[in-house]
Amino acid sequence: MIAPQSIGPAFLRHERTLQPWRIALVLYTLFIIITSHWPGQAPEAIEPRHYVPDKLIHFLAFGGFVMLLWMSGWIRSWWMASLAGIGFVLIDEWTQSIFATNRHASVEDLIAGMLGVLTASGWMAAFATPAPRALGTRSRRQSFAMETLFEQPSNILRLALLGAVPLLLVAVLIYSIAWTLLGASYGNLALTVGLVAAMICMWVHIRQRMISILDAMTDPRPCFACGNSMKELAPDEAGWATCSVCGEEAHRSQWVRLVMPKTPLPMLIKADGISGTACLMLYLLLGLIFAPYALLVADQSGLAGAILYTSVGLITAMMWAGRHQLLGSWLTSMGTRCAQCGSDLMDVEVDRGLGQCPQCRTEFARFGRPQDDEEGGANGVHTPSNA
Ligand SMILES: [Zn+2]
Ligand SMILES: [Zn+2]
Repeated sequence: MIAPQSIGPAFLRHERTLQPWRIALVLYTLFIIITSHWPGQAPEAIEPRHYVPDKLIHFLAFGGFVMLLWMSGWIRSWWMASLAGIGFVLIDEWTQSIFATNRHASVEDLIAGMLGVLTASGWMAAFATPAPRALGTRSRRQSFAMETLFEQPSNILRLALLGAVPLLLVAVLIYSIAWTLLGASYGNLALTVGLVAAMICMWVHIRQRMISILDAMTDPRPCFACGNSMKELAPDEAGWATCSVCGEEAHRSQWVRLVMPKTPLPMLIKADGISGTACLMLYLLLGLIFAPYALLVADQSGLAGAILYTSVGLITAMMWAGRHQLLGSWLTSMGTRCAQCGSDLMDVEVDRGLGQCPQCRTEFARFGRPQDDEEGGANGVHTPSNA
């Protein structure tokens, strides 16, 4: 770790990778302010049978705002970003009722926006969970590749287009089909299917790009803090080396694609213990069945959809955090059992932090020092315990 007060190469790299997100945040915020204050249609001009999924749009707009705000790095803690999001929802709804013609503040819009903020908070909290040191190194490999990908604003733009085009195409297609065949307006459904299509397209694209970036990383061996090549540095017996530019420590295994064990669904559900499982079940019932049903009966299908999105969003965030936790505890003892075939690796020799399973040739890492959550211990003396 570098000292936080130093404006060194690591700090400069970090600032550089945040730049595109800051531009995106400013443009996005302007877009929300303009569209939400755009004059609405006069009541008599509205075709009454067409239904705009405006509750879901509120949900997505403000959830997206909070995520971008957090990614911009202008607000460091996730709960501060959430508070800013809630403030924006309130102010936006209030100014709509004052400045925009044919628009009025509605409690349902407000609730939908808040639910978006809540869901984003769940994800930010999951991402912000501190990781054990070994897992930290592994996730930094991913985040370094992610930063490299989005350092260029053109890549963010490409991703935005890859989301927007399928979203619009699929949503319009589903809506028109439902309208023609059934004569009914299925705005919520069309938007939801469009969103799923958009997410699949974006995920496939990111995955492909990430694989090529991660593969290209093995030769220059970049420092994950400042980006400088660590190729020439010889690691110590346990596989550790210190970046000559910024002082960040790196383990030899951090540039290698290591096999991680599978985390089956029942294990993920149980990751948070009995109380966690109970919460998850209760949330499933409330969020996926009771609340949407009650609201559908009350003719609030838009809000029902927003609650559905919230529960799906929070449950996936919880499972992501659970998987992170499981991988963390597994990585702490990495080098004792093979992730691929389960063989005992206790007696297998490693060469400067990296070894191979004698049974299936799967590569594994051994960090050769206690793994703990304390970042402060990172600057301590190397203790190659397996030497
Ligand atoms: Zn460095
Ligand atoms: Zn094996």
